[in-house]
Amino acid sequence: MPPMPVGQSFDVAVIGAGVFGAWIAHALNARRQKVMLLDAYGVSNARSSSGDESRVIRMGYGPDEIYTRSAMGALPLWLDFFARTDKPSLFQPTGVLWLAHQGAEYEQKCLNTFVKWGIRHERLSAADLRRRYPPFNLTPNPLARPAVPIAWGLYEPDSGVLIARRAVQAVVEDACCRGVKI
Ligand SMILES: Cc1cc2nc3c(=O)[nH]c(=O)nc-3n(C[C@H](O)[C@H](O)[C@H](O)COP(=O)(O)OP(=O)(O)OC[C@H]3O[C@@H](n4cnc5c(N)ncnc54)[C@H](O)[C@@H]3O)c2cc1C
Repeated sequence: MPPMPVGQSFDVAVIGAGVFGAWIAHALNARRQKVMLLDAYGVSNARSSSGDESRVIRMGYGPDEIYTRSAMGALPLWLDFFARTDKPSLFQPTGVLWLAHQGAEYEQKCLNTFVKWGIRHERLSAADLRRRYPPFNLTPNPLARPAVPIAWGLYEPDSGVLIARRAVQAVVEDACCRGVKI
């Protein structure tokens, strides 16, 4: 880590260089603010929740549509950023598959939200699931309460996995190149 700059002033101090602090510093810099980004343990450190190998980025949040809207905004920003910085492998477009029990409210609410906001998805019947994912066992887990079979699935083809720690480091690196002090 570079030494703390002495005798300089900033418009904004952002405390915490996890994913949120990194992007906030980046965005404020783009709005011509002079930004200092501080972290007690370093960028994307092992104690931070975004300092892990991977994090799923998905659109389904059950009834919590506010997170769906947030993810809808975030995914294109990540994709633009990775394209611009030539790091496309930091997003792995694996898709995300939800497995739902009969009467599952959470997945049904995800589906309603996808329809409402035009999010690409596929609703898969149990037969579709068996055909597409032959190794999956859809029969009831005897340890689960209630022990009920998987009745349907919901697939998000555009969602996937962020290579989290390296992605956050890339955002901070880019922010620093643009003048943010860390
Ligand atoms: C096990 C696990 C799995 C998860 N899986 C997913 C997932 O798959 N998909 C998903 O979207 N979300 C997931 N999340 C949630 C997601 O990881 C967090 O929402 C996200 O990382 C929060 O980022 P953040 O920048 O707010 O916090 P952090 O990444 O924790 O960053 C906070 C930073 O602040 C620093 N800091 C704290 N206090 C101070 C201080 N006083 N002075 C200076 N620095 C300070 C810390 O060192 C740290 O670097 C998961 C979380 C966990 C724990």
